[in-house]
Amino acid sequence: MTAEENEVIARARSEIRDLQPYSHATFQPGLLRLHANELPWPGAHADDANEVNRYPEPRPRRLAQLAGDYFGVPGDAVFLSHGSDEAIDLLVRAFCSAGEDAIVTCPPTFGMYAVAAKIQGAGIIEVPLTVSGAWLPDFDRLQSISAPGVKIIFLCSPNNPTGNCAGADEILALARFWQGRSLVVVDEAYIEFADQASLARHIERHPNLVVLRTMSKAHGLAGARLGVALARPAIVQLLQRIAPPYSLSNYAIAAGIAAMQPLAIARTRARIDLLRAERARMTVQLTQLPAIAQLWPSDANFLLVRCYDSVRLMRAALAAGILVRDQSAALNLDNCLRVSIGAREDNDRLLEAWQ
Ligand SMILES: *Cc1c(COP(=O)(O)O)cnc(C)c1O
Repeated sequence: MTAEENEVIARARSEIRDLQPYSHATFQPGLLRLHANELPWPGAHADDANEVNRYPEPRPRRLAQLAGDYFGVPGDAVFLSHGSDEAIDLLVRAFCSAGEDAIVTCPPTFGMYAVAAKIQGAGIIEVPLTVSGAWLPDFDRLQSISAPGVKIIFLCSPNNPTGNCAGADEILALARFWQGRSLVVVDEAYIEFADQASLARHIERHPNLVVLRTMSKAHGLAGARLGVALARPAIVQLLQRIAPPYSLSNYAIAAGIAAMQPLAIARTRARIDLLRAERARMTVQLTQLPAIAQLWPSDANFLLVRCYDSVRLMRAALAAGILVRDQSAALNLDNCLRVSIGAREDNDRLLEAWQ
């Protein structure tokens, strides 16, 4: 562990640093497994391909290596999780002591950061996004928080539900400012749809930076539950101490490996292009609807719109058999709905319902 990494890990909970992790059954393919109380046959209705009667590889190495290549970091900088929701939860659990420490969030944003903090009994410091129309993190205020127990600052870029990216230089300056005191966790669940590049390569220079990515959105694997946290190896190892030993199923590992093959990556890129084209079309079309008061440009696969009457538009969508997400209860988002970009015909259906 480098001195810089040591400084980061020193901020983790001491119980976690001292924890003796669960010792799982040895994973050594090729040997007869009479050590894990598995059945010798796959489940009666299962296909044989994924050997589902066998426990999965606890820390899937090949997938970590492929994911590292894909995300542009070394394999030992990849923490694989049961969706990035699990990575969020584990980060909070590893760093925040109940009743003492706190996370920082920038609402309106993804709700899981606050939920994870509440489950852990950590405090939540809210530093709202600027409302001037740009929905940017308030970087000045993020540098003037005086609470000693701040352990994690969560930034979401592109932000859910506003759809925009935060500036890379400002995020990196923030990480530098908090180095030695707090992690800066950048949730890039939608970065594939943005023009801006991922910050993953900067974990090399910023030991307290963690970048979250997911296979759920651009890669179309939401049901497989596969997320990644990209961070310095010391942080990855810390998370591995507290992660359940088999949180990735054989199916999830196989789906992840398949998604990292060159043909799959090429196909994913083509779909992202398609989605971006539909996003551009929907941006124009929705803006023209008389029921829409405001629409914010999006770097993600959804659009945030402000309606004159969001309840009416929710109802109209539902009457046409379409769900959209009500955001009107979120900070500064009264009368706002979040609309995912679907296939062309799906989008047309919504436009028709809202005409
Ligand atoms: C969807 C979403 C996630 C959740 O990703 P999973 O990998 O499916 O758990 C994380 N962060 C944000 C901002 C999201 O919108």
